[in-house]
Amino acid sequence: MEVNVDYVSACLVDLAGEVLVTSTLAGDNRRRRGDLVVGRAASAASACLASPAAAGRPLAGVGVALPGLVDSSRVLRRAPNLPALEGEDVGARLLEALGREDLAVVADNEANLAALAELVSNGEARRDFVLVSGEIGVGAGIVVAGEIFRGVRGLAGEIGHVLVDPAGPPCSCGARGCLEQVAGQEALLAGAGISTVAGPAGRALAARAGAGDLRALAAIERAGEALGVALASLVNLLDVPAVVLGGIYSELSPWLAAALATELDRRVVARSFAPVELGTSSLGGAAARGAGVAALRWVLDDPASWRARSLAAG
Ligand SMILES: [Zn+2]
Repeated sequence: MEVNVDYVSACLVDLAGEVLVTSTLAGDNRRRRGDLVVGRAASAASACLASPAAAGRPLAGVGVALPGLVDSSRVLRRAPNLPALEGEDVGARLLEALGREDLAVVADNEANLAALAELVSNGEARRDFVLVSGEIGVGAGIVVAGEIFRGVRGLAGEIGHVLVDPAGPPCSCGARGCLEQVAGQEALLAGAGISTVAGPAGRALAARAGAGDLRALAAIERAGEALGVALASLVNLLDVPAVVLGGIYSELSPWLAAALATELDRRVVARSFAPVELGTSSLGGAAARGAGVAALRWVLDDPASWRARSLAAG
């Protein structure tokens, strides 16, 4: 599952982590009550569970990707773009809405789970990278030696709130000049002069850029520069050898990557002997898929507990 700012998405993954069916409900969740957002997520999940692909398959558990800081007890501690769910155990509320409190549930930040999906989908061929996920918020899933790097309290990866311009616009987090305000989906749409989008924002921006629209191209290039500035700081601090563009950035990479690479090349101090590889994620719905993989891992790590739950639930 992914509960994000402007959509909810569910997918069913099999034991190998492959996606069998997906269901997405677009729509701005910022002005919705928390229970309505959870209800929409439950609807998307139910649609997947009612599909022929789900028939005859026991459900092992549920993973939830969230656009903010998720603590080790699954509580969404801070979500500037989804305040209605702050302080909530969204996973537990989702199981309640589904009437499936017997299931195991895990929750994590959406960029962390998108990075997990990326790690699994490439067969762990690449075990050290940062996946930067462009949505309304901007997140980073940092993977070191095949594990998500979470920081001391599990709150690492908030690259969207890294400073790129001290005099920049105010941010939903209360600070000013954060990366999200230059490179987030809304900043990109505003910069491109797009006020309303019928479908996915990344597709609309890519269509404009592909048609040579100068405002769109300038907004994307500005976002690429800001991403390069923020990511160069991350690489200088953590020595991560590869950057993978995810979310809307994967669609925009033909117009974004050059400006980003230029900034990395200008600012990464070890560039002459330790270059940074720049790649693009080919996964759609990576965070929802990663959430499924996380739930699966939880069950596979402790199958006896899952079995006991299933028996108790009858
Ligand atoms: Zn901020």
